[in-house]
Amino acid sequence: MLSLDEYLRDAEQAHGHLCAGQVLGVRLAMLGLQKLGIDDPRGKDRKRLVTFVEIDRCATDAVAVVTGCRLGKRALKFRDWGKVAATFVDVNSGKAIRIAAKESSKALARQMNPELADKNQQQMLAYREISDADLFTTRWVRVDLPPEEFPGYKGERIICEACGEGINFCREIRRKEKILCRSCAGECYYQLL
Ligand SMILES: [Zn+2]
Ligand SMILES: [Zn+2]
Repeated sequence: MLSLDEYLRDAEQAHGHLCAGQVLGVRLAMLGLQKLGIDDPRGKDRKRLVTFVEIDRCATDAVAVVTGCRLGKRALKFRDWGKVAATFVDVNSGKAIRIAAKESSKALARQMNPELADKNQQQMLAYREISDADLFTTRWVRVDLPPEEFPGYKGERIICEACGEGINFCREIRRKEKILCRSCAGECYYQLL
């Protein structure tokens, strides 16, 4: 594993700026990997890890940088729960750990650096110093990962009978003998103009 500073340098580059979320995300991911005993996630261990993230904010970019897990590689899974938390799954051993940032860490950051007016500066400094135990809750969990959720899974593409677009394995919806994509089945997030 790289050092905190080395990961922060990479995170800054990937994210576009250095912020409290980067520090928190790098610390969170480093702790997860450490607990799982994965020390080269972007190298020899790169096929060992699947990471679930629970928020689409700064920290998530940092988690992706440290773990090497990316959406396009199917190793990063997004659950939009609005929480600064991530679950790291070692697909070799089946062990998984969920790590969440403690809400109290913000108050702690304020106490530690009251002389700094800027909240982001307060937190950026403090999140480097605060112990893992004060920064995060850590729980061993079980994640049921079906075969089609694994990064390297190969499966069939299927055609939606309503719109004719191709759909990757297991994302289709079968309704009254019909094979539909999610949008044609009514889960659409856009309206045609
Ligand atoms: Zn940021
Ligand atoms: Zn369709």
